[in-house]
Amino acid sequence: IERIAVLTSGGDAPGMNACIRAVVRTGIYHHIEMFGVMQGYQGLIQDEIIPLNSKSVSNIVQRGGTILKTARCMEFKTSEGRKTAYENLQKHKIDGLIVIGGDGSFTGAEIFSREYDIPVMGVPGTIDNDLFGTDFTIGFDTANNTVIEAIDKIRDTAASHDRLFFVEVMGRDAGYIALWSAIGGGAEAVLIPEKETSVDDLVDKLMIDLGNAKTSSIVVVAEGEHGGGAMAIAEKVKERFNYDTKVSILGHFQRGGSPTSFDRVLASRLGQAAVEALLKGYSRKMAGMISNKVALTSIDLAIKNKTEMDESLIELVNILAI
Ligand code: ADP
Repeated sequence: IERIAVLTSGGDAPGMNACIRAVVRTGIYHHIEMFGVMQGYQGLIQDEIIPLNSKSVSNIVQRGGTILKTARCMEFKTSEGRKTAYENLQKHKIDGLIVIGGDGSFTGAEIFSREYDIPVMGVPGTIDNDLFGTDFTIGFDTANNTVIEAIDKIRDTAASHDRLFFVEVMGRDAGYIALWSAIGGGAEAVLIPEKETSVDDLVDKLMIDLGNAKTSSIVVVAEGEHGGGAMAIAEKVKERFNYDTKVSILGHFQRGGSPTSFDRVLASRLGQAAVEALLKGYSRKMAGMISNKVALTSIDLAIKNKTEMDESLIELVNILAI
């Protein structure tokens, strides 16, 4: 392998830049010519492929978002689109590709790599932490820190007015951010897609809390919950419960911001590992972190398998909310 390209795809996540930097500099360290693809797979198809040197990635380790931009690209799902993408890689004599993204991006990478026999490595970059084969994805820790900062502030106002707050966090199909921020933010309850919670049970719990002289409560809700997130839950709870109820939807600000130390180190280690795995002849693997060691998992396994949500974490929220 002599020329490697890196791209970011799907939802952006803080720490992607730290990972791009690690990929580029590790490649250069090993005397590889490095390239960046703009806008994910869109840039592969539109030939937006630029050479990157060590300086191109200076001063980005601390920046959120991705300097390579990211996009959702429908054309890459067609064989014509992927053919054009392959021709562009050939034109630049690129013989290895690193994809930083989530499971959608990995699905595209897997198909493309099999179709054209091009070596590909994946790096898990998503705030959702929903990939098999890594304990943590790049961006998850930063998103949690952003959420608990918001919860801390919401708690100040909730406590001042004796209010019940439903705080909606990101995670359409995955409750990791909700669960972790509920523990870290000291929430009274958490609702996640992995575990069904009835409105009745929730109301019963909140009533007991009030009986115990708790005057304000925070419930963290993953966005996909009960078909409409925090708004839907709040409406249902209001029908049964006469209490001053507010909803706060945190939204896209959870995706931004300077990555935490944890995410920068994770991104740097996985970026290095992805390049070195390509150089050792690996392909269609995801570089993840398991028990603080780099681990390579087949991309098809990373996509197909799901990590079971750790029930003890849900229990912990309940124990700590008594
Ligand atoms: P994420 O990587 O965050 O899960 P998406 O699901 O939006 O994000 O996927 C990102 C991109 O990956 C898509 O816009 C598309 O270009 C590509 N992709 C996803 N699924 C496929 C597929 N089945 N075949 C080819 N490309 C795909």
